[in-house]
Amino acid sequence: MATQSNRPRHGDFAAMAGSKSGEEDLLARGNPRPRGSEISNGFGVHSPELVRLQSTGQGHVRDELSAPSESGSSAHKQNVETDFAELKDGTLVELIQDSENPHRTLLAVWKNGDLRYLDQLEYDSQVLVPLQRTNETFKRLRLPAEANPYESVQSLLSRVERLISRCVSVDAMYIPVLADFVLSTWLVDRFFVAPYLSVVGLPQSGKTTLLKVLSLVCRRPLLIADITSASFYRACAQFMPTMLIDEAGSIRNNRALRHLLRAGTTRDVISVLANRTCHAYGAKVISWLEPCDDTALNSRCVLIPMIETARTDLAGPSDSEVEREAAALQAQLLQFRFQNYRSVHPGPIPGDEILRPRSRDLLRTLSAAHLQDVKRSQRLLEFFDSGQAVPPEPLSPEQNAVLRALYSIIHVRKDYTSIQTGDLTSTVNYFLRIAGESLRLQPRKVGAVLTSLGFSNRRRTNSGWVVSLNREDGEKLHQLSEHYGIDRLSERFQKISPNDCDLCRAVTAKKSNRVPQVPKGQASTTLDLREELAPH
Ligand SMILES: [Zn+2]
Repeated sequence: MATQSNRPRHGDFAAMAGSKSGEEDLLARGNPRPRGSEISNGFGVHSPELVRLQSTGQGHVRDELSAPSESGSSAHKQNVETDFAELKDGTLVELIQDSENPHRTLLAVWKNGDLRYLDQLEYDSQVLVPLQRTNETFKRLRLPAEANPYESVQSLLSRVERLISRCVSVDAMYIPVLADFVLSTWLVDRFFVAPYLSVVGLPQSGKTTLLKVLSLVCRRPLLIADITSASFYRACAQFMPTMLIDEAGSIRNNRALRHLLRAGTTRDVISVLANRTCHAYGAKVISWLEPCDDTALNSRCVLIPMIETARTDLAGPSDSEVEREAAALQAQLLQFRFQNYRSVHPGPIPGDEILRPRSRDLLRTLSAAHLQDVKRSQRLLEFFDSGQAVPPEPLSPEQNAVLRALYSIIHVRKDYTSIQTGDLTSTVNYFLRIAGESLRLQPRKVGAVLTSLGFSNRRRTNSGWVVSLNREDGEKLHQLSEHYGIDRLSERFQKISPNDCDLCRAVTAKKSNRVPQVPKGQASTTLDLREELAPH
């Protein structure tokens, strides 16, 4: 029987632990790992098997724990360190901290509305134990100490909005999206696209304060300024934290950071950095002194501009009253996670087809947790549609679609020297269809887009137009996709590892001085807020 902790007991779980019916169903999700296993092998270079598991799982590693039928004494049971698990009977297990001793971790166990706090959860041949705070990164991670009922999603969001407004001076139109972001971090492992915020402002504009306030109420917040440390990568792979990266522009290895940030927006993408495979998926807040010049990254972030304020009535994130309110909110947000984990699903918002795919993905992620609040989702859609949420994308939807198809084709087919425009058009439309986009292109339009992207070596044959691509075109394709990013190009689409393509390796490994040309007819859109943000 599981040992009970000194935490309050919210329900009787006798039916769960040690129940015969549940024994065969144990499916833990999260990062259960036999205690004492070599942690240094647990991240960094993953085995191909592990990469496969992680890239297809629900976010974290998905391990099926063996459940032999004979039950032994607890002395023979294997301890499995757990930060989160979803058992097959619907039970959710989440890591929390002991309210009396923050260094100690516990498991909050939720089943059918009943909640218990345990030191360990015994399940046939295994014992789930809370992941211990052994490394420095994990020690800084703020965990809730309990889960508490909340009135409604709306009241939860209003309280988060009030907390942010008390501490930070930011334009009122950004407050709701900040609260939506906070809420979405609590269910991010249920989404396909992660919410990102890009906070831009001069020194003294309150960026760090905003990051600190957000870190009080996001799930598993990690405020960091150094992404090169091993513990950063371990944190990424281990417990999907909400990363809050302060003044990313000053971080030494900026290129690595950008690569990681880009890869972390979509769950399927595995980032390869310096031969280290990293699962970077998760919610992120990045603060910059000046707007990031990475167009691909910008189009995946909600931009929050900040300006220095003369207000003197703001509370500090470390004020005891703010901390108390934040702790109370965290407890309710954990309960929100428990109650919505299995049902939440990002869905379309009426009218969101007017948005570009990346903006639409972001909108759906940010509104998934409160989809039933139609007014709120509509307001968020209007905010996105206003163009103030996400900077404009330099590539047109048609250019993006053709780039995505070409990029996939040259990775699937080794003989990419010539491609019939008709075949290319089919591929373009195929990807558009499986990405859920309503756009379709005709061969004539594909031809025009090819020209605009600079692939103009085409000739007419008996079987139609054929575009020829040489190695230089392959390089150019890689540069274009690196520079602008490609919408919804996941591992599943291209079915290759970046390790299999020398051009992909070159793009990720070496610093390229060759800046890809902006396609003809498209102005380069860089958003420079320095003028606007400078004090007058
Ligand atoms: Zn490649």
